[in-house]
Amino acid sequence: MFVKNQLTELTIEDITDTGEGIGHVDGFTVFVSRAVPGDTVRARIIKVKKTYAIAKAEEILTPAAGRVEPKCPVAGSCGGCQLSYLSYEAQLQMKQKKVEDCVRRIGGFPDVPVLPILGMDNPYGYRNKGQFPVGGANGAILPVLGFYAGHSHRIVPTKSCLMLWNGHEKILAAVVDYLMKSGAKPYDEETGKGLVRHVLMRRGAATGEVSVCLVVNGRSVPKPEILWESLQQIDGVVGLCLNVNTEKTNVILGRETLPLFGSVTITDYIGDVSFVISPTSFYQVNPVQMKVLYDTALSYAGLTGNEVVWDLYCGIGTISLFLAKHAKRVIGVEIVEDAIIDAKANAMRNRLTNAEFHCGAAEEVVPRLIAEDETVKPDVVVVDPPRKGCEKSLLETILSMEPARIVYVSCDPATLARDLRILADGGYRVDRVQPVDQFPGSVHVEVVSLLQKMSNTWERTITLDVEMEDYHRIKNRTEVTADATE
Ligand code: SAH
Repeated sequence: MFVKNQLTELTIEDITDTGEGIGHVDGFTVFVSRAVPGDTVRARIIKVKKTYAIAKAEEILTPAAGRVEPKCPVAGSCGGCQLSYLSYEAQLQMKQKKVEDCVRRIGGFPDVPVLPILGMDNPYGYRNKGQFPVGGANGAILPVLGFYAGHSHRIVPTKSCLMLWNGHEKILAAVVDYLMKSGAKPYDEETGKGLVRHVLMRRGAATGEVSVCLVVNGRSVPKPEILWESLQQIDGVVGLCLNVNTEKTNVILGRETLPLFGSVTITDYIGDVSFVISPTSFYQVNPVQMKVLYDTALSYAGLTGNEVVWDLYCGIGTISLFLAKHAKRVIGVEIVEDAIIDAKANAMRNRLTNAEFHCGAAEEVVPRLIAEDETVKPDVVVVDPPRKGCEKSLLETILSMEPARIVYVSCDPATLARDLRILADGGYRVDRVQPVDQFPGSVHVEVVSLLQKMSNTWERTITLDVEMEDYHRIKNRTEVTADATE
């Protein structure tokens, strides 16, 4: 229906996770870069596939309500912030709607309250972590640092990022200066040759401590003291290390981290719990909203001090230790071994003797521990899975353990809604859903949801009736959706 280079006009209805506007022309789906929901655009078709086309907005005919001139000079090219064309108010509205749509349509919950999204007062400068690819290997004179463009590994050069803390730009400048002086070559993804792949930096918001890590295709770099000397002049920098990644892969980090100067880790606080964080461990990137998220999770957990709590997908134990002060016992489960090592060290540091951690896939560890020891039966289960959500078998295990409350923390409202449906069908009432904006500027949204075990048959019968209505609604919806997509 389209040919390459053709111009078409359309209104953008939605946006993908990678930031392309989604619109339709005579029922045919078109993904349009540089366009946001609400825009009517003239777009040029770049690629035509069987069921969709890819286009680039050339002219905004009618701007979306809330469309603004982005503050960032690399907006639209850099793949990091997809929503920089929308005012923060409009971004929040969009995320609220996304969560509501998922809960209502995918989950089939017409009446579950989706509370107003908790946003930030200042949606800039919030990130505590930056990871910048290093480029310029193809005969370029200057090494470049930047971000990847959406859907590619083309580096969009930049000297700073509006989402990071003030001062990070000095680290980038020091690294570029070092690469020039030392002759350390940027890594070339095409050939697998060259040395320096990425620069990673992370800052403890509460302590101001900053760690810098070069991801390298090797086990050493030439003249690292040149870099360390300039880094020491920069506020907060406590250490420089190397992460070894010699694989030809898109994965940024390798398994091994080698210390060079100062400390490999940084310290941070969440509330009054302190954390030591390795460069390779998962740690929430927005400290202000992390506190909002964890406070919400804590209040939903409804702890009195007598509960056994499971924290599944616990990372370095941030939620576990945050809850441990209010619970009898907390059991964290996480698949990454380094994270579990950090979690155990963090428990010791904070003298939280009622927190224990187990390494392994939650869907395997939980049934095993429950079979071994009745006393680990939880009163409250917290889950915080990656975007793909929980394994179905894990949800079934949780249902069989019958905790009074389940607190589901999610970074993908679609898989959250899918999993809430399974838990609801298994005898839980979805009490409420609270979106939290952890990632201003990006399409991503975090959500905390509270589920309560239905206490008596009366409550269950009423809810089951409602669910039967939901069921018919979902069934109808599925048929309609199937028609539309065929
Ligand atoms: N709750 C933590 C981490 C959440 S991120 C925090 O707020 O910081 C999700 C975590 O799940 C990651 O640390 C990831 O390594 C872990 N993970 C992924 N799959 C898992 C599985 N099958 N079982 C246990 N942990 C898993």
